[in-house]
Amino acid sequence: MSFSAGVKEELLRVQPEKGCCMLSEISAYTQSIASLRLAGGGRMKVVYETESAALAKRIFLLLKKRLEITATLSFTRYERLGGRRACLLTVSEQDSRHLLVSLRMLREEEAGDVFRGIPRAAQTRRCCRAAFLRAAFLSAGAMNDPDKSYHLEFVSSPGRTDILTGILEKSELTAGVTQRRGNAVVYIKKGDDVVNCLALMGAHQSLMEMENIRIRRDSRNQANRATNCDQANLNKQLSAGAKQAAAITAYSLKHSLGGLPRDLQEIGRLRMLNPDVSLEELGKMLSTPVGKSGANHKMRKLMNLIAADEEKNEGEER
Ligand SMILES: [Zn+2]
Repeated sequence: MSFSAGVKEELLRVQPEKGCCMLSEISAYTQSIASLRLAGGGRMKVVYETESAALAKRIFLLLKKRLEITATLSFTRYERLGGRRACLLTVSEQDSRHLLVSLRMLREEEAGDVFRGIPRAAQTRRCCRAAFLRAAFLSAGAMNDPDKSYHLEFVSSPGRTDILTGILEKSELTAGVTQRRGNAVVYIKKGDDVVNCLALMGAHQSLMEMENIRIRRDSRNQANRATNCDQANLNKQLSAGAKQAAAITAYSLKHSLGGLPRDLQEIGRLRMLNPDVSLEELGKMLSTPVGKSGANHKMRKLMNLIAADEEKNEGEER
């Protein structure tokens, strides 16, 4: 199961207890997955549509418990989406009016002017903001596996993102908005914000899982940085040793090393045979072993002699 599906499964087990939170949750479903079927004369039906049977059941029970509305459940099949099945919850005309007035989407005295209000508590109370976000995630949310990247999002319609961004902002979560395939997507990208959003929604198990992944990721990144650093030093060492070996080989082909002081001959031969080892190790291989600085000193002397010889040759060639 994906991380996202795990979060949803967990959120389905979180039950709103207070009336204010139930209404806030119903409001989020109505904002994100409901449509209005207009029947003329100001009459309309609210229809919720979701592919998740578990979510349809949750909405059905909430409508019943909080607003004493009994919705009708039916199924539909999308031919163009490979025959995927969706659940439809249809609220009767009379109950739809009651529902929309309760959600502050319709004014009591007006006939049919539906607007996009939300219950005041959904913005002002923390418990209700949590309920709203939970429902928004259940109906239109997704998140990436935190092993790959930190990203939590809510799919919305263009021009309809302000309610969600307002609630996220009030919850001190930094959100961005982007467009994707005709939809507006409200997203959270910072690891801390994703964790705080999971906490607010009540997905505590997923939150712990994500924190474990974050710790693993951070220590792995540190280890990678250390390895890269070692590798860089090693490359430097390799190329320095290889350069020395190449220069010594070129010199020995011209002059043989025999004309050089004995200690330089020895370190020169050792370097040709061992281009990959450090100077410290090279020093230890000498018949009279020397430390790193001793080996460095000898190698510098040898390289200076070779460089002087090259300069002389260049002079002669001119
Ligand atoms: Zn509440």
